[in-house]
Amino acid sequence: MPAGSSGSDMKPNALEAQKQSPPALAYRYRDALYLNITSKCPTACEFCIKFSWDYQYRGNNLLLRKEPEVREILEAATNPSQYSEIVFCGYGESTYRLAEMKEISLTLRKQGAKKIRLNTIGLGNLIHGRNIAPDLAGILDSVSVSLNTADPEVWKKVLHPLPEYKEKGFESACEFIRECAKLIPETNVTAVEGIEKDPARFSRLVESLGAKVRLRPYLDDYEDR
Ligand code: SF4
Repeated sequence: MPAGSSGSDMKPNALEAQKQSPPALAYRYRDALYLNITSKCPTACEFCIKFSWDYQYRGNNLLLRKEPEVREILEAATNPSQYSEIVFCGYGESTYRLAEMKEISLTLRKQGAKKIRLNTIGLGNLIHGRNIAPDLAGILDSVSVSLNTADPEVWKKVLHPLPEYKEKGFESACEFIRECAKLIPETNVTAVEGIEKDPARFSRLVESLGAKVRLRPYLDDYEDR
């Protein structure tokens, strides 16, 4: 991803031109490569910049017109060995496409990818109706789960989950973290600062799940969520 201009600070004409450009399926940022494999999302998080930035991100149009094929993603992610890591991120929840994630990861690994990470809202188990951590353990070095709070009511209020994820979402995300922490070398749990009024309580919850806490400022680098 080119550093520099973002969706928020571009001149109007440049932004319009960017929106008309083909969607970026892979984009470089710093020394990592980010994969944009779906726009589907089970939540509408209040802190998500895709709404205010209209699916643009640092010179890239991330609005997918269709779910890209594995072949298209792999064509966009050439020479994976040159990056410090490959990250499933984008403006959607990558675990909707678990089978494609596996195929992409295994191919990129064979091509020399050093590290593969998933950024997720943590609802993959509910999406698939089963524990997907063992599937992820076969392909990931690291997972970063955006939980944001230790309070299920605050979770619902801030993340605005779709109806089918509302009641069991928080509990399922915690269980997902617990299962990932058992199997994946690195499991981090993030929170946008200011959402959790009791950071010590949040840290205790995350540690009890076997993972590491990372607080991040609002509008921090999106890829670090
Ligand atoms: S899960 Fe990610 S992409 Fe979806 S609304 Fe939340 S922050 Fe945005």
